[in-house]
Amino acid sequence: MSGESTYRAPELLINGQWRTGRHAMTVAIVNPASAETLDRLHLANHDDINQALQATQQGFEAWRQVPAFERCARLEKGVNKMREQMEHIATLLTLEQGKPLAEARAECAMAADLIKWYAEEARRTYGRIIPARLPNSRMQVLKQPVGPVAAFAPWNFPLVLSARKIGGALAAGCSIILKGAEETPASVAAMVDCLAAELPPGALQLVYGVPAEVSEQLIASPIIRKVTFTGSVPVGRHLAQMAAKHLKRITLELGGHAPVIVCADADIDKTVAQMVVHKFRNAGQACLAPTRFYVDRTIEGDFLDAFTAASHKLVLGDGMAPATQMGPLASARRLAAVRDLIDRSVQAGAQLHQGTAPTTGFFAPVSLLTHVNPESPVIQEEPFGPVVTLTPFDNIDHALHLANQSAYGLAGYLFTDSARAILKVSDQLEVGSLAINGMGVSVPEAPFGGLKDSGYGSESGIEGMEAFLDTKFTHHCA
Ligand code: NAD
Repeated sequence: MSGESTYRAPELLINGQWRTGRHAMTVAIVNPASAETLDRLHLANHDDINQALQATQQGFEAWRQVPAFERCARLEKGVNKMREQMEHIATLLTLEQGKPLAEARAECAMAADLIKWYAEEARRTYGRIIPARLPNSRMQVLKQPVGPVAAFAPWNFPLVLSARKIGGALAAGCSIILKGAEETPASVAAMVDCLAAELPPGALQLVYGVPAEVSEQLIASPIIRKVTFTGSVPVGRHLAQMAAKHLKRITLELGGHAPVIVCADADIDKTVAQMVVHKFRNAGQACLAPTRFYVDRTIEGDFLDAFTAASHKLVLGDGMAPATQMGPLASARRLAAVRDLIDRSVQAGAQLHQGTAPTTGFFAPVSLLTHVNPESPVIQEEPFGPVVTLTPFDNIDHALHLANQSAYGLAGYLFTDSARAILKVSDQLEVGSLAINGMGVSVPEAPFGGLKDSGYGSESGIEGMEAFLDTKFTHHCA
């Protein structure tokens, strides 16, 4: 497929220089559409990470001195470069991650938007003045960059999920060491290259390594002042424990199992059209993907027929082919995990309605499961693939009860024009983001974060910027 022959695994960006990692281990980068190896990635060793730590301290000292107005201008220059390079970055992303090229372009555009929004926000990092208690005195609240940041981003939306961390940290005046996902290194490196050219050495660094080694070294270092992670619940718990031990602030975005409540008055065709696109984007490997559909019992049959018909029409294939609407899963590991979850759920009594999929690469067919109960594996565990469940409900309280039984609480969706249902679900659904009659739960200017096992803290929006700032009170007497 075009582009494959030119794919190269990237080097590490340490102290303003791109160079090869010196770890004894290398990792194969695999095209998930063909299961063929694209290249091998050289990982960072202990000394490489040590150098990044020294450089991040120097990078912080230089970058924090740059006035917010200029930080904004420099980040915007990097964003413009990202936009010029979009085709190149998107092609790398499709080759190493599998998503259709149109989705890869959209992801690159979203990553650029995120950094642009944060860049603009740099100029609005206001403190405040508190009326003074004493004559001839001033009481002020200052917002200051927290310091060097250690960031860990995953492989499912490597550009957007890295951009949330890079944009927030740099706009706030922090330096950042990003450990990208080893599965999808080249697209992130191409994005970082666009941004780093405008920054002091060490302000933005990119490393790949053995994840447990890198996180342990970074989080334990006194140089690092803030940790931010997107990924799975078990890894998030582990990093939270390390962060607690070293008293580091941490933001955690740990996935979801999003409920979709469809009331009897919803327009079934419109709802299905939106949810099929949203669900099967990136082959369902999205933390905000709609997954558990709770549908009013009176429309259950019609909804099942419409959803099955629309989802089985999706064209699965190599993301580089223009006709492809859904690509493969990102890795053999994810394919095995999705198959295992479906098998266990069927053994527990679920009925499976499944489409077809190519047999090369790591493709999983779209799969809908009915007759699931709250103990079913597919309800208990995040599917992170093209899998949905369908469960009928009797009234809105029943729907809320079922939806809130999950340990996750990231995104949720509601389809209805009933003011009563909208009020109830807005108040009582245990999620960090709720879309009503739509799918827009994540935009740069609004906070995005989870409740319960989905983690804590927000990214994006002013809350996302706040995560990279310290608050200082000064009381100045004449
Ligand atoms: P995983 O737990 O093996 O890894 C998740 C991510 O964490 C990867 O990018 C990995 O490199 C990193 N990681 C693993 N151990 C680490 C450590 N000790 N220190 C620092 N980083 C570490 O999961 P996976 O198989 O890659 O993905 C499966 C599950 O992860 C999914 O089912 C989903 O729940 C979750 N996930 C969530 C998101 C999200 O957007 N919240 C993204 C990707 C994966």
